Amino acid sequence: MTTTTVPQKRRAEDLTATALESKIAEQPALNGNGVATTNGHATNGTTPSSLPALDASQLKITLADPTLRSVPTVEEACSGLETICTDHMITCSWKASSGWAAPELKPYGPLSLMPTASVLHYATECFEGLKVFRGYDGKLRLFRPDCNARRMLMSTLRISLPGFDPKQLEILIEKLMAVDGPKWLPESRPGQFLYIRPAAIGTQPQLGVQAPKEALLFITASFMPRMDLPKGGMKLHTNPEDMIRAWVGGFGYAKVGANYGPSLLATNEARERGFGQILWLYGPEGYCTEAGASNFFLVWRTKDGKTQLITAPLDDKLILDGVTRRSIVELARERLAGEVEVVERKYTIDEVLEADREGRIVEAFAAGTAFFICPVSQIHHRGTDVHISMGKTGEIGHYTSKLKNWIGDIMYGKEQHPWGVVIEEEKKQ
Ligand SMILES: *Cc1c(COP(=O)(O)O)cnc(C)c1O
Repeated sequence: MTTTTVPQKRRAEDLTATALESKIAEQPALNGNGVATTNGHATNGTTPSSLPALDASQLKITLADPTLRSVPTVEEACSGLETICTDHMITCSWKASSGWAAPELKPYGPLSLMPTASVLHYATECFEGLKVFRGYDGKLRLFRPDCNARRMLMSTLRISLPGFDPKQLEILIEKLMAVDGPKWLPESRPGQFLYIRPAAIGTQPQLGVQAPKEALLFITASFMPRMDLPKGGMKLHTNPEDMIRAWVGGFGYAKVGANYGPSLLATNEARERGFGQILWLYGPEGYCTEAGASNFFLVWRTKDGKTQLITAPLDDKLILDGVTRRSIVELARERLAGEVEVVERKYTIDEVLEADREGRIVEAFAAGTAFFICPVSQIHHRGTDVHISMGKTGEIGHYTSKLKNWIGDIMYGKEQHPWGVVIEEEKKQ
């Protein structure tokens, strides 16, 4: 028997946690003041290197002919089977041997991949989703893009793709919108938004199951329909007993593609029964976790008469740490203090059913970038239905509406707030 000496950097019992921690520690921007001390962010986890890091200042620009495509209305853009993107996209390629290449802003179009590319076989993919808003004051804004950029880095590292300084990603997102914002989200469309989708994939054309030595990060911007006010509210159906979205020790907390494809089977089944999304429960206890690909909130009264806003906790890493969720929790703690108690804890579907029987449920909503803050009117669980009030208007409850207005006002510039990041546009049309 031969003994090989492997550097014992981390204990095998908690490989994922310590591996991620040490990789994140290599990312200067996630680790303190954001000042890059090394070029370590060019690695995908082995050792820091002196290869080029992702650098937005190196952006190469090839502009599309702006007269080639006209801008549809949101309704037109969302009526077909294809997502309609703006004129440009950003791509940045990475190789283990040469680090990050200069990012490119270029006309929107297909990517070229070998059939043996890692992502097509092993789901080495992660993504982000954020919106850009045309304010009522004419300005273009992102909402807390730093949170998306940092989460993207975490997801990227979780699937062994190369790290980067999240600030550079944020600058690239801003750049894409500075170029495409004036035409695709013009000042004549205040109160509208586009959806920005950064993604990263392993592109190495080799079928061995291994951390990709080649990767591509890309960013597109597209139309997305408004989904925050479905007629009659969002209706949730709990997951089938034999299917869960995520598990302790899994990767439910990362925005990796592998979390979403397998959930579609249950979602389709629920749709056929007239429900919009799955309320994902976890474990024999039936802990409430998320609603589809959104976080889930309940407002209820406790047995001793307190009004509580409750949502699942982050600590067991089952759920996605949503930017919308975080913003709701922070604003509710600040602006509803004394009126509503905000709790992040595990709670079960049985507690929800009991609260319903006792008439203690006040409101419920789903929260995420795509659905924004969307009132929930019904939860169906194994033959029992919980009907939830949609407030005096029949459209949205009191607290749901307050939170939604506060955050919406920041997004559309009605309230000046550090969460609303204004983009300097290239040329207004
Ligand atoms: C993206 C996502 C959310 C919402 O996150 P936001 O940052 O608010 O958009 C919630 N849950 C899941 C599973 C998600 O993928």
